[in-house]
Amino acid sequence: MDDYESLLDRARSKIPEDAFKRSGERFQVPSVQLIVQGNRSIWQNFQEIIAILNRPGKEVMKFVSGQLATAGNFEGSTAIFNGKFSSEQVEDVLSRYIDSYVICPVCTRPDTSIEKEGNAYYLSCTACGAHTSIRPV
Ligand SMILES: [Zn+2]
Repeated sequence: MDDYESLLDRARSKIPEDAFKRSGERFQVPSVQLIVQGNRSIWQNFQEIIAILNRPGKEVMKFVSGQLATAGNFEGSTAIFNGKFSSEQVEDVLSRYIDSYVICPVCTRPDTSIEKEGNAYYLSCTACGAHTSIRPV
């Protein structure tokens, strides 16, 4: 005999697992790993993070160094900034970058790319098709 619970279980098992994952999915970016060496700050997992963001390192570097008001360079898979910064400071700047240049403001998903049309820049979303005007980095 079917009781309510087993009916519910059967109904649940028919929903693809993916449906649950998608509804609660969040953009997972690892924490910034940063060490200070002398008068420089070395962002150790820079390459890993820009790969997840799917953005060119040059662009992320330009934004972060601009916000930190310092100069930055690549060295292998790391990014090095002049001056002493904390990982919290860099994470804060990075999250501003993600909000402005990665997350679609319409559907809040990160499936976007930046497109340039003339002098205008757009955040183009492959998830919902939104085309949002943005300021250049
Ligand atoms: Zn979207």
